[in-house]
Amino acid sequence: MTDHTSCAIVGGGPAGMVLGLLLARAGVQVTLLEKHADFLRDFRGDTVHPTTLRLLDELGLWDRFATLSHSEIHQISLDVAGRSVAVVDFGRLRRQPHPYVAMVPQWDLLNLLAEAAQAEPSFTLRMSSEVTGLLHEDGRVAGVRYQDADGPGELRADLTVACDGRWSIARREAGLDAREFPVNFDVWWFRLPNDKPAQPTLLPRLGPGRAAIMIPREGYFQVAYLGHKGQDAAIRAAGIEAFRRNVLELIPDADVSALRTMDDVKHLDVKVNRLRRWHVDGLLCIGDAAHAMSPVGGVGINVAVQDAVGAATLLAEPLRQGRVTRRELAAVQRRRTAPTVVTQTAQRVMHRGLDAILDGGDLNPPAAFGTLFRRLPWLSAIPAYLVGVGVRPERAPAFARRG
Ligand SMILES: Cc1cc2nc3c(=O)[nH]c(=O)nc-3n(C[C@H](O)[C@H](O)[C@H](O)COP(=O)(O)OP(=O)(O)OC[C@H]3O[C@@H](n4cnc5c(N)ncnc54)[C@H](O)[C@@H]3O)c2cc1C
Repeated sequence: MTDHTSCAIVGGGPAGMVLGLLLARAGVQVTLLEKHADFLRDFRGDTVHPTTLRLLDELGLWDRFATLSHSEIHQISLDVAGRSVAVVDFGRLRRQPHPYVAMVPQWDLLNLLAEAAQAEPSFTLRMSSEVTGLLHEDGRVAGVRYQDADGPGELRADLTVACDGRWSIARREAGLDAREFPVNFDVWWFRLPNDKPAQPTLLPRLGPGRAAIMIPREGYFQVAYLGHKGQDAAIRAAGIEAFRRNVLELIPDADVSALRTMDDVKHLDVKVNRLRRWHVDGLLCIGDAAHAMSPVGGVGINVAVQDAVGAATLLAEPLRQGRVTRRELAAVQRRRTAPTVVTQTAQRVMHRGLDAILDGGDLNPPAAFGTLFRRLPWLSAIPAYLVGVGVRPERAPAFARRG
C-alpha cells in the first residue's frame, strides 16, 4: 500500500511528538510512525526542564501536565567539608514561569503530547509501524518504507523527518555521518525505595572509583550509577549480590532489597555524537537522531524538544506550500547547531571530572569552593541557566499557541 502525506515523522519520542503537534497545529498534514505499540519505556529521559515547561504553557497544555504525577528538583547540592552547598539553584531563574526540573515518566509526557496532536485533524499517529527504509526519487528522499500489522507499506512525503533516536535507521540509510566523541563511562539505572516525601534536591553520592546520582521520585529514588565503560558484561556476570554490595558501599542507607535480579538494573551505553550534516534533500534529522547527548544534566529530552520547535518554526510554511528546499533544511541545522555544540562541550568538560572520580581521584571539592557559593549564592544561577534554559531557548511559534 502506498499513500502520501506532507511530513512523515519517523519515531514518536519527544522530538517526533512535539514536531508532529506543532506542524499539525499549523495545518500541515503529518503522519508519525512509531515502531512500538505504546510509549512505556523505563529509565528514558524523565527530566522536563524549565524551557520545556514554558513550552507546555504556551501550547495550552499546562493544566493537563500539572495533573501528571511528578516530583520537582529545585536545587543540586554538594557536600563540601561536611556542609551541604547548593551549586545549582533553578529557583534563581526568575524569568521562567516554572523554575525547576519536573521529573515525569516519559510515557506520561508522550501520551499527553500524542493526545494533543490527535486533536488536530491533520495529524495521524501510526503505532506499531516500524520504518524499514527510505524511498528515493530523482535523487531525493521521497518518503519511507515501513512494516506494520498489515505487512510492508510505503508512505510518500514531501519531507521526512528522522526522530528515531540515537540508533536512527533513517540517518543510516541516508548515509549521514556522525562525529563521535569518546566517553569513558556508562550508566546503570535502577530504583530504590524511598518512604519519605520526595525532596526537591538532587543527591550526588561519590566514593572512590564510583559515583551515583539519586533522583527523588514519588515513592522511590531513581538512581544513576556510574562506572567505567565496557563493564556491563562483567557487572552482570558478577551478579546481583555483588552489585548490591557495590551500591551499599556508595549509599550505605540504601534499601537494596528491591534489586532482585540484574534485570532490575538497566544499562545505558553513554554516547556523545553529532551529525556533520543533519539533512539530505527530502530528509532532516533532529533530536538524538542528529546528536546523541550524554545523560549529564538530563538535557536529552529538552534539546530534542527545542530542535522540534526550531524545525517547526522554520518548516511549517514551506510544508504548507508543498515543497521544502535544502536551504530551508540547512537553516534548521544552523539554528540548532550552537545549542547542541555548547551543551555537548559542557557535558564533555563535566565528563573529565567524572573520569577523575571513577579513576579514584580526590572527591571532595575544596572548602573554598563551598565558601565561595555560600558568600555569592547567585553563582548557582549560572549552571542553573546552562542546564535549565541553555543556549537559544525556543518559544512556541504563534500558530501553535493556545490558551
Ligand atoms: C536509558 C536512558 C536514560 C536516559 N536518561 C535521560 C535523562 O535522565 N534525562 C534526559 O534528558 N535524557 C535522558 N536520556 C536521553 C533521552 O531519552 C533522549 O535524549 C531523548 O528521549 C531524545 O528524544 P528523541 O525524540 O530524539 O529520541 P527517542 O526518545 O530515542 O525517541 C525515538 C523514538 O523513535 C522510535 N523508533 C526508533 N526506530 C524506529 C523506526 N525504525 N521506526 C519507527 N519508530 C522508531 C523509538 O521507539 C522511539 O519512540 C536517556 C536515554 C536512555 C536510553
